[in-house]
Amino acid sequence: MLNVEGVTHRYQGPAGIIEALASTTFQVADGEFICIVGPSGCGKSTLLRIIAGLLLPSSGAVMLDGATVVAPQRRIGLVFQQTNLMPWRSVLDNIALPLELAGATREARDEQATSVIKHVGLDGFEKAYPAELSGGMAQRVALGRALVQNPDILLLDEPFAALDALTREQMLIELLALWSGDHKTAIMVTHDITEAVFLADRVLVMSQRPGHIRAIVNVDLPRPRRLEMIHEPGFGELVQQIRQNIGALTV
Ligand code: ADP
Ligand code: MG
Repeated sequence: MLNVEGVTHRYQGPAGIIEALASTTFQVADGEFICIVGPSGCGKSTLLRIIAGLLLPSSGAVMLDGATVVAPQRRIGLVFQQTNLMPWRSVLDNIALPLELAGATREARDEQATSVIKHVGLDGFEKAYPAELSGGMAQRVALGRALVQNPDILLLDEPFAALDALTREQMLIELLALWSGDHKTAIMVTHDITEAVFLADRVLVMSQRPGHIRAIVNVDLPRPRRLEMIHEPGFGELVQQIRQNIGALTV
Protein backbone atom coordinates (compact mmCIF):
# COMPACT_ATOMS: atom_id res chain seq x y z
CA MET A 1 0.00 0.00 0.00
CA LEU A 2 2.69 2.46 1.09
CA ASN A 3 6.19 2.40 -0.33
CA VAL A 4 8.98 4.47 1.18
CA GLU A 5 11.77 4.25 -1.38
CA GLY A 6 15.26 5.56 -0.71
CA VAL A 7 13.93 8.63 1.08
CA THR A 8 16.58 11.06 2.40
CA HIS A 9 16.30 14.52 3.90
CA ARG A 10 18.71 17.41 4.47
CA TYR A 11 17.77 20.59 6.30
CA GLN A 12 19.41 23.89 5.49
CA GLY A 13 20.16 25.20 8.99
CA PRO A 14 21.83 28.51 9.94
CA ALA A 15 25.10 26.64 10.59
CA GLY A 16 24.95 24.69 7.34
CA ILE A 17 23.33 21.53 6.06
CA ILE A 18 21.93 19.02 8.56
CA GLU A 19 21.61 15.52 7.21
CA ALA A 20 18.50 14.34 9.08
CA LEU A 21 17.58 11.19 7.21
CA ALA A 22 19.83 8.76 5.35
CA SER A 23 18.41 6.50 2.66
CA THR A 24 15.30 4.89 4.15
CA THR A 25 13.30 2.16 2.48
CA PHE A 26 10.37 0.10 3.74
CA GLN A 27 6.89 -1.02 2.75
CA VAL A 28 3.68 -0.97 4.72
CA ALA A 29 0.83 -3.36 3.89
CA ASP A 30 -2.84 -2.43 4.04
CA GLY A 31 -4.08 -2.80 7.62
CA GLU A 32 -0.66 -3.07 9.25
CA PHE A 33 0.31 -1.36 12.49
CA ILE A 34 3.91 -0.13 12.25
CA CYS A 35 5.82 1.50 15.09
CA ILE A 36 9.03 3.46 14.57
CA VAL A 37 11.49 3.76 17.46
CA GLY A 38 14.91 5.37 17.57
CA PRO A 39 17.08 7.81 19.49
CA SER A 40 16.01 11.42 19.87
CA GLY A 41 16.90 13.54 16.84
CA CYS A 42 17.39 10.59 14.49
CA GLY A 43 14.84 11.86 11.98
CA LYS A 44 11.62 10.08 13.05
CA SER A 45 9.43 13.18 12.82
CA THR A 46 11.13 14.15 9.56
CA LEU A 47 10.27 10.74 8.10
CA LEU A 48 6.65 10.97 9.26
CA ARG A 49 6.27 14.47 7.84
CA ILE A 50 7.59 13.25 4.49
CA ILE A 51 5.11 10.34 4.47
CA ALA A 52 2.36 12.85 5.30
CA GLY A 53 3.30 15.00 2.32
CA LEU A 54 4.10 17.97 4.61
CA LEU A 55 7.77 17.89 3.65
CA LEU A 56 9.38 16.84 0.37
CA PRO A 57 12.29 14.37 0.52
CA SER A 58 15.71 15.50 -0.74
CA SER A 59 15.79 12.28 -2.75
CA GLY A 60 13.68 9.16 -3.04
CA ALA A 61 9.90 9.03 -2.92
CA VAL A 62 6.87 7.98 -0.93
CA MET A 63 4.27 6.12 -2.98
CA LEU A 64 0.71 5.54 -1.87
CA ASP A 65 -0.89 2.83 -4.02
CA GLY A 66 1.62 3.67 -6.75
CA ALA A 67 1.12 7.45 -6.74
CA THR A 68 3.90 9.70 -5.40
CA VAL A 69 2.92 11.68 -2.29
CA VAL A 70 3.81 15.35 -2.83
CA ALA A 71 1.18 17.08 -0.66
CA PRO A 72 -1.07 16.29 2.31
CA GLN A 73 -4.08 14.21 1.38
CA ARG A 74 -7.41 13.16 2.78
CA ARG A 75 -6.37 9.50 2.84
CA ILE A 76 -3.69 10.28 5.42
CA GLY A 77 -4.67 11.50 8.91
CA LEU A 78 -2.18 12.99 11.35
CA VAL A 79 -1.87 13.11 15.14
CA PHE A 80 1.01 14.88 16.91
CA GLN A 81 2.14 15.08 20.53
CA GLN A 82 1.01 18.71 20.55
CA THR A 83 -2.69 18.70 19.84
CA ASN A 84 -2.72 22.20 18.27
CA LEU A 85 -6.41 22.61 19.07
CA MET A 86 -7.96 25.99 18.46
CA PRO A 87 -8.82 27.33 21.92
CA TRP A 88 -11.76 29.43 20.69
CA ARG A 89 -13.46 26.49 18.98
CA SER A 90 -15.55 23.86 20.75
CA VAL A 91 -14.67 20.15 20.65
CA LEU A 92 -17.21 19.68 17.88
CA ASP A 93 -15.83 22.55 15.81
CA ASN A 94 -12.22 21.48 16.31
CA ILE A 95 -13.04 17.99 15.07
CA ALA A 96 -15.06 19.40 12.17
CA LEU A 97 -12.26 21.76 11.06
CA PRO A 98 -10.87 19.56 8.22
CA LEU A 99 -14.41 19.20 6.84
CA GLU A 100 -14.89 22.96 6.99
CA LEU A 101 -11.62 23.49 5.12
CA ALA A 102 -12.81 20.96 2.54
CA GLY A 103 -15.98 23.02 2.04
CA ALA A 104 -18.56 20.70 3.65
CA THR A 105 -21.92 22.18 4.71
CA ARG A 106 -22.60 22.92 8.38
CA GLU A 107 -25.12 20.08 8.48
CA ALA A 108 -22.73 17.50 7.00
CA ARG A 109 -19.93 18.71 9.27
CA ASP A 110 -22.00 18.41 12.42
CA GLU A 111 -23.28 14.99 11.50
CA GLN A 112 -19.85 13.54 10.74
CA ALA A 113 -18.13 15.22 13.69
CA THR A 114 -20.86 14.04 16.08
CA SER A 115 -20.40 10.46 14.98
CA VAL A 116 -16.60 10.71 15.38
CA ILE A 117 -17.05 12.24 18.85
CA LYS A 118 -18.86 9.09 19.99
CA HIS A 119 -16.18 6.97 18.36
CA VAL A 120 -13.33 8.58 20.31
CA GLY A 121 -15.22 8.56 23.62
CA LEU A 122 -16.05 12.27 23.91
CA ASP A 123 -19.81 11.91 24.13
CA GLY A 124 -21.26 14.83 26.07
CA PHE A 125 -18.23 17.11 25.47
CA GLU A 126 -19.32 18.45 22.08
CA LYS A 127 -19.64 22.01 23.39
CA ALA A 128 -16.62 21.99 25.72
CA TYR A 129 -13.57 24.15 24.91
CA PRO A 130 -9.96 22.87 24.84
CA ALA A 131 -9.10 24.67 28.11
CA GLU A 132 -11.74 22.56 29.88
CA LEU A 133 -10.23 19.23 28.76
CA SER A 134 -7.68 16.92 30.38
CA GLY A 135 -4.58 15.93 28.38
CA GLY A 136 -6.12 12.59 27.45
CA MET A 137 -9.34 14.22 26.28
CA ALA A 138 -7.45 16.79 24.22
CA GLN A 139 -5.65 13.90 22.48
CA ARG A 140 -9.03 12.28 21.80
CA VAL A 141 -10.07 15.49 20.05
CA ALA A 142 -6.87 15.45 18.00
CA LEU A 143 -7.54 11.81 17.12
CA GLY A 144 -11.12 12.69 16.20
CA ARG A 145 -9.92 15.53 13.97
CA ALA A 146 -7.58 13.07 12.21
CA LEU A 147 -10.37 10.49 11.79
CA VAL A 148 -13.16 12.80 10.65
CA GLN A 149 -12.28 12.55 6.96
CA ASN A 150 -12.10 8.77 7.27
CA PRO A 151 -8.43 8.38 6.28
CA ASP A 152 -6.99 5.00 5.26
CA ILE A 153 -3.70 5.68 7.05
CA LEU A 154 -3.17 7.22 10.46
CA LEU A 155 0.25 8.74 11.16
CA LEU A 156 0.95 9.33 14.84
CA ASP A 157 4.02 11.17 16.16
CA GLU A 158 4.50 10.39 19.87
CA PRO A 159 0.82 11.21 20.47
CA PHE A 160 0.67 10.00 24.06
CA ALA A 161 4.16 10.96 25.27
CA ALA A 162 2.90 13.79 27.48
CA LEU A 163 0.11 11.78 29.16
CA ASP A 164 0.29 10.11 32.57
CA ALA A 165 0.85 6.34 32.57
CA LEU A 166 -2.73 5.25 33.27
CA THR A 167 -4.25 7.60 30.70
CA ARG A 168 -1.66 6.44 28.18
CA GLU A 169 -2.55 2.76 28.74
CA GLN A 170 -6.21 3.58 28.24
CA MET A 171 -5.42 5.47 25.01
CA LEU A 172 -3.33 2.55 23.68
CA ILE A 173 -6.21 0.14 24.19
CA GLU A 174 -8.65 2.52 22.52
CA LEU A 175 -6.30 3.21 19.63
CA LEU A 176 -5.98 -0.52 18.94
CA ALA A 177 -9.76 -0.90 19.05
CA LEU A 178 -10.21 1.97 16.55
CA TRP A 179 -7.46 0.65 14.29
CA SER A 180 -8.81 -2.91 14.12
CA GLY A 181 -12.51 -1.95 14.11
CA ASP A 182 -12.13 0.59 11.30
CA HIS A 183 -9.52 -1.39 9.31
CA LYS A 184 -7.01 1.45 9.27
CA THR A 185 -3.31 1.28 8.57
CA ALA A 186 -1.24 2.94 11.30
CA ILE A 187 2.32 4.24 11.48
CA MET A 188 3.28 5.53 14.90
CA VAL A 189 6.51 7.07 16.18
CA THR A 190 7.23 6.42 19.85
CA HIS A 191 10.29 6.44 22.08
CA ASP A 192 8.65 3.85 24.34
CA ILE A 193 9.72 0.32 23.32
CA THR A 194 7.02 -1.37 25.44
CA GLU A 195 4.37 0.76 23.77
CA ALA A 196 5.80 -0.13 20.34
CA VAL A 197 5.72 -3.89 21.01
CA PHE A 198 2.23 -3.67 22.52
CA LEU A 199 0.78 -1.96 19.44
CA ALA A 200 2.74 -3.06 16.40
CA ASP A 201 2.83 -5.83 13.85
CA ARG A 202 6.36 -4.69 13.04
CA VAL A 203 8.73 -2.32 14.80
CA LEU A 204 11.20 -0.34 12.70
CA VAL A 205 14.32 0.51 14.67
CA MET A 206 16.16 3.61 13.44
CA SER A 207 19.84 4.48 13.85
CA GLN A 208 21.21 7.74 15.14
CA ARG A 209 21.18 10.76 12.82
CA PRO A 210 21.31 10.63 9.90
CA GLY A 211 18.61 8.06 10.56
CA HIS A 212 17.98 4.93 8.59
CA ILE A 213 16.26 1.62 9.37
CA ARG A 214 18.65 -0.47 11.41
CA ALA A 215 16.38 -3.42 12.11
CA ILE A 216 12.82 -4.53 11.54
CA VAL A 217 11.39 -6.64 14.36
CA ASN A 218 8.28 -8.73 13.72
CA VAL A 219 5.89 -8.78 16.66
CA ASP A 220 4.12 -12.11 16.37
CA LEU A 221 2.02 -11.75 19.52
CA PRO A 222 -1.67 -12.68 19.21
CA ARG A 223 -4.43 -10.10 18.90
CA PRO A 224 -6.41 -8.64 20.49
CA ARG A 225 -3.55 -7.44 22.67
CA ARG A 226 -4.18 -7.21 26.41
CA LEU A 227 -2.16 -5.19 28.90
CA GLU A 228 -1.35 -8.36 30.87
CA MET A 229 0.69 -9.56 27.89
CA ILE A 230 3.35 -6.99 28.77
CA HIS A 231 4.44 -9.28 31.60
CA GLU A 232 4.68 -12.42 29.50
CA PRO A 233 8.15 -13.79 28.56
CA GLY A 234 7.62 -13.53 24.78
CA PHE A 235 6.87 -9.84 25.16
CA GLY A 236 9.98 -9.20 27.24
CA GLU A 237 12.14 -10.99 24.67
CA LEU A 238 10.92 -8.67 21.90
CA VAL A 239 11.55 -5.59 24.05
CA GLN A 240 15.04 -6.91 24.75
CA GLN A 241 15.69 -7.54 21.05
CA ILE A 242 14.71 -3.98 20.14
CA ARG A 243 16.66 -2.49 23.04
CA GLN A 244 19.78 -4.36 21.92
CA ASN A 245 19.41 -2.91 18.43
CA ILE A 246 19.12 0.59 19.85
CA GLY A 247 21.81 -0.03 22.47
CA ALA A 248 24.28 -1.20 19.85
CA LEU A 249 24.24 2.34 18.49
CA THR A 250 26.01 3.88 21.43
CA VAL A 251 29.03 1.54 21.63
P1 ADP B 1 13.23 12.99 15.92
O1 ADP B 1 11.79 13.17 15.62
O2 ADP B 1 13.74 11.60 15.66
O3 ADP B 1 13.60 13.42 17.30
P2 ADP B 1 13.58 15.06 13.88
O4 ADP B 1 13.10 14.45 12.63
O5 ADP B 1 12.68 16.02 14.56
O6 ADP B 1 14.07 13.92 14.90
O7 ADP B 1 14.95 15.84 13.58
C1 ADP B 1 16.07 15.19 12.96
C2 ADP B 1 17.23 16.16 12.89
O8 ADP B 1 16.92 17.24 12.03
C3 ADP B 1 17.57 16.80 14.24
O9 ADP B 1 18.96 16.94 14.32
C4 ADP B 1 16.91 18.16 14.17
O10 ADP B 1 17.60 19.10 14.95
C5 ADP B 1 16.98 18.48 12.69
N1 ADP B 1 15.84 19.31 12.26
C6 ADP B 1 14.53 19.01 12.42
N2 ADP B 1 13.74 19.96 11.87
C7 ADP B 1 14.58 20.90 11.38
C8 ADP B 1 14.39 22.14 10.68
N3 ADP B 1 13.18 22.60 10.37
N4 ADP B 1 15.51 22.84 10.32
C9 ADP B 1 16.74 22.39 10.59
N5 ADP B 1 16.97 21.23 11.24
C10 ADP B 1 15.93 20.49 11.62
MG1 MG C 1 10.20 13.80 16.79
